[in-house]
Amino acid sequence: MSSVLRLYVRRLLRSALLLMAVIVPAAFAAPQDSITSLSYQLQPALVDGKLEALDMRMAFDMPASGLARIRPPQGIGQETPSRKVMATAVHAGTLASTSDGIWTLHAAAGSRVEILYRLTPATDATLVGGSGYQDILMGADWFQGMGENLFAHPDGDTKAVVRFEWKGPVTWMLVTPLQELAKAGPLTLQNLLQTTMVGGTHVQRATRPIRGGTLRMAAVGHWMIPLDGYADIAAAVISEQRAFWNDTTGPFTVTVVAMDRNDYFNAGVGRDGAFAAYVARKVTPVTVHGLITHEYTHMWIPRRTGRMPDGADEPLAYWYSEGFTVFHTSRAMLGSGAWTLQDFANDFNSISTGYDMSPARHITNSEVATGFWKSRDVQEVPYKRGAILAWILDARLRARTQGHKTMNEVLLHMRDRFAANPSLGVRANLVRSYADEGGGAIEDWLSRYIDKGEQMALPGRLFEGCLKMLEEQKAGIGRVRSVMVVPGLSEDALKGCVKRIGR
Ligand SMILES: [Zn+2]
Repeated sequence: MSSVLRLYVRRLLRSALLLMAVIVPAAFAAPQDSITSLSYQLQPALVDGKLEALDMRMAFDMPASGLARIRPPQGIGQETPSRKVMATAVHAGTLASTSDGIWTLHAAAGSRVEILYRLTPATDATLVGGSGYQDILMGADWFQGMGENLFAHPDGDTKAVVRFEWKGPVTWMLVTPLQELAKAGPLTLQNLLQTTMVGGTHVQRATRPIRGGTLRMAAVGHWMIPLDGYADIAAAVISEQRAFWNDTTGPFTVTVVAMDRNDYFNAGVGRDGAFAAYVARKVTPVTVHGLITHEYTHMWIPRRTGRMPDGADEPLAYWYSEGFTVFHTSRAMLGSGAWTLQDFANDFNSISTGYDMSPARHITNSEVATGFWKSRDVQEVPYKRGAILAWILDARLRARTQGHKTMNEVLLHMRDRFAANPSLGVRANLVRSYADEGGGAIEDWLSRYIDKGEQMALPGRLFEGCLKMLEEQKAGIGRVRSVMVVPGLSEDALKGCVKRIGR
């Protein structure tokens, strides 16, 4: 996610090594050198009743070295700390900033220190401009933030237990999955960094029973969200996916922001026990249905089906986490009746023609990782490339097992293997699980189609009898494939197609 984080760790390691060369005995004798008892208090900064900023009061016990390095909130996929964050006061210590924006705090060993910092709002345009989710979205009486853009923190142990407290006025309400997580046990820094929250004076709320728990939905933003309709859709999707995977219970939270834009923009980000959704005015219920299915599928793809590569290497496996999620979502949308076969064909075509016509379709997987947060074209590659690969793998498995097995069995097998061995990587798990289910060896395909970026060709008979595969030669691009619904299908034939493709 953040290459700077990695660089910073490397730099720290290097200086630690240099230090050890000089004072080896002292280094070995040194007690644990990390800050402890970390706590946060969040408060809206109101001027004449209007929200201007958010104020965070961060407190902790100093390490024995008397030096603490704190990373200010940075957002998701960003390389430098946010410019919208400013330290406003320090109690019992002295704060300085390094050239890469890290806060360094000097104070007496073991003393309790406080850093107060202020978070000023992003604009909706920041979110949409492809720069990622870097800052807090705010209106006069509401805000939405994610852990990465709220919490300053030390590098290192994200499993450390922390405290979080909301100090809003009584007229303000906060909704965050942290409230549910705190009921189940102590919160960790990881919980905070991986969270979403909405707060305000008029937070729209809805709750629904779901399979194995309760759904809480909360919305803020520039216009009234049709929240009851959204909650009905979310409850159905979550219960359906929980039934498919049959391994999850517990509460779930969805935060929604009504974006100030009059188009079809929608986006979601998976969180701990939650996801954050962003929707523009023209978004339709069926788009929301797709968004929720995609985001909720991330609870398994990749979260419960394998380990993702760490840090800046994470995008190396987005072909799986995003591509297979796109694939699984398309099938769930068709199978659940949210899409007709024609809707499915339209969506499939956006993936297929988008893939064949993408200027980035031939980039290598390492180029995906380096360019993911920098270029829109690059960002789309793993979604489309991974989805096409999943369809091809699905067709091959069906063919080899006379239609008895589909990718569903592979995904469930991956979940079981990962539950038994939590160090298993997504790629290794897919390779093995696919072979176990009878699909054969796929390392060669992964190396060609994913690592080297060789263009895949969809089999002509992929959706035989339901969707006809069309091929067009486009000047300067090459072969572009799309599908059309076979004309004149009977009602029964259509049902059969939905059943077959949607499974
Ligand atoms: Zn996704």
